[in-house]
Amino acid sequence: MDKFEFMRKELDELKEKGTYNTIRVLESAQGPWVVINGRKMLNLCANNYLGLITNEEVKSAAIEGVKNFGVGAGAVRTIAGTLTLHEELEKKLAEFKHAEAVILLQSGILANIATIPLVVGEGDLIFSDELNHASIIDGCRLSKATIIRYKHLDMADLKEKLEDYKDYNVRKLIVTDGVFSMDGDIAPLPDIVELGEKYGAITMVDDAHGEGVLGDHGRGIVDYFHLEGKIDIDVGTLSKAFGVIGGYVAGNNTLIEYMKQRARPFLFSTPLSPADTSALIKVVEILSKDDSLVKKLWENGNYIKEQFKSYGFNIGHSQTPITPVIIGEEKTAMEFSKMLFEEGVFAQGIVYPTVPKGTARIRVMVSAAHTKDDLDFGIKKFVEIGRKLGVVK
Ligand code: PMP
Repeated sequence: MDKFEFMRKELDELKEKGTYNTIRVLESAQGPWVVINGRKMLNLCANNYLGLITNEEVKSAAIEGVKNFGVGAGAVRTIAGTLTLHEELEKKLAEFKHAEAVILLQSGILANIATIPLVVGEGDLIFSDELNHASIIDGCRLSKATIIRYKHLDMADLKEKLEDYKDYNVRKLIVTDGVFSMDGDIAPLPDIVELGEKYGAITMVDDAHGEGVLGDHGRGIVDYFHLEGKIDIDVGTLSKAFGVIGGYVAGNNTLIEYMKQRARPFLFSTPLSPADTSALIKVVEILSKDDSLVKKLWENGNYIKEQFKSYGFNIGHSQTPITPVIIGEEKTAMEFSKMLFEEGVFAQGIVYPTVPKGTARIRVMVSAAHTKDDLDFGIKKFVEIGRKLGVVK
């Protein structure tokens, strides 16, 4: 008897449906160009918004971290003690975010999973944007609170739902992505704060794709809307624009002190390595003093969007450098991505269930490290293939 027959069956089904993930193997660092199967390819897939993965100062800082502290953190912070590096990064991040305090976690997904069950529990209510990221959804499920999904970005719908439950004397949480990663649209945070205040709900934003992208020097969505101290919980990742790995929660002193006593990934899992932490300290230092990378990212994002639009591509309604090239049909999108790959462009097709049916797309992620020539190469290939497949005229 094959005990894993059920998995084999499901894997075969994924292949039949064409939704089996092909995982490409990179033989180079993540950068504007990567090497795959020995071939140099234009990389339009990574969340390396600011190109910091290969930044020389950041790499040197990682090496210094290893020289001074070795390669591992030893055990969880409440048991083996915390490294000065962890404390320094938390302090620097809190300053950067203009927050009272910050707690570091090992990833963005863990930051969501750690936080939500501490804020609400069984019998409580969560108001969650219907397109929130999987890690928010997992955090919500883990909390055992009742999840009420409101229509994407629809504040009238959120208000109506809060009104429906206004007499429930339980804890309430409103949670949203800051920037939605598949469309590049931005949550109306000022309205969410206002509704949170009116209905006594805790407010939480996941700023994974706003970090290093939105606001002054890339301080994120809270800075972008000038809402410091008004959003109760600001969750972020250190793996996208920051280029390394890790997650964090920024908030008031009580929340962060409580998390250091109660958050399970903090209490039961070893923290970031010295190399990661030291590299991240350097990233925060770079961003604090220099906003040129953030500006370059926006310049590149705006350029590619204008170009795609001028050739007739449907690029949705992104408000950020994330550029979805919406194809519609799943098969055409996957074929488009395959043809791009053959032509030297690495840009993934994204299909249902990651995006709604009929909106399959190629998601284009530019970075500050792309040159105009890089982007022109990519645009040319998109246009050639788009015409071949009848996506554009
Ligand atoms: N939140 C959002 C909105 C994300 O897009 C992601 C990454 N895909 C995460 C959280 C998870 O971040 P990490 O990769 O650091 O776990």
